[in-house]
Amino acid sequence: MPQGRTHLAFELGTLPGWVAAGAALHVERAPLVFFTGAYVVASLFLSPDLDLTRSDPSRRWRRARFLWRPYALLFRHRGMSHSPLLGPLTRILYLAAVGAALGTVLHLTLGVPFPRSVPGESVLPVLAGLYLPHLLHVFLDRTFSLGKRAPLPRG
Ligand SMILES: [Zn+2]
Repeated sequence: MPQGRTHLAFELGTLPGWVAAGAALHVERAPLVFFTGAYVVASLFLSPDLDLTRSDPSRRWRRARFLWRPYALLFRHRGMSHSPLLGPLTRILYLAAVGAALGTVLHLTLGVPFPRSVPGESVLPVLAGLYLPHLLHVFLDRTFSLGKRAPLPRG
């Protein structure tokens, strides 16, 4: 199984290629910026390996790493958190729930206003930026675990 650093190097190392491909396909600048930002954030802070209580991505959250402890308890390592389709969704929904709880506390105690809305044109590039590093992570995990599985029982 690849180390966290290997995942990060692979994900961030391929980013210039993805951005160049987007530019070659005449994707406009704003969606490329949204994509790149989401991709970097996802690579650094929203790795599927947040399903481990101790991992490089959880350490990157520093003092806020406790926020991901329930996630690690909820999701078995390399289970749904590593599902190609559902994995990023679990972290997006988890983070939204944590953000909503934190926002509610800040609103009720300090009067901090709730955010109004998300710019609609950013949704697809941000989703692409969140999903692509996840898919690369899962690809690496599955590639390196091939041949390391327990042998099938005889008979
Ligand atoms: Zn993994």
